[in-house]
Amino acid sequence: MKITVDDVKCCGAGQCVLLAPEVFDQRDEDGIVVLLDAEPPAELHTAVKEAASVCPAAAISLSDTE
Ligand code: SF4
Repeated sequence: MKITVDDVKCCGAGQCVLLAPEVFDQRDEDGIVVLLDAEPPAELHTAVKEAASVCPAAAISLSDTE
């Protein structure tokens, strides 16, 4: 899995950070998403997919890596 985030779309809602704090953080100054791990281990994939699906700004994109 490879993650990309669009910090222009991100509205700082923080749903991703709640669901997968190992992968997503937010900037202190404006709450915009910070990607901590673009290729997280398998045990985090379920949480990352959930974060992508609940993100209100659709700012998280996932692609497969083999
Ligand atoms: S859930 Fe989406 S809008 Fe909210 S902080 Fe994460 S990437 Fe940004």
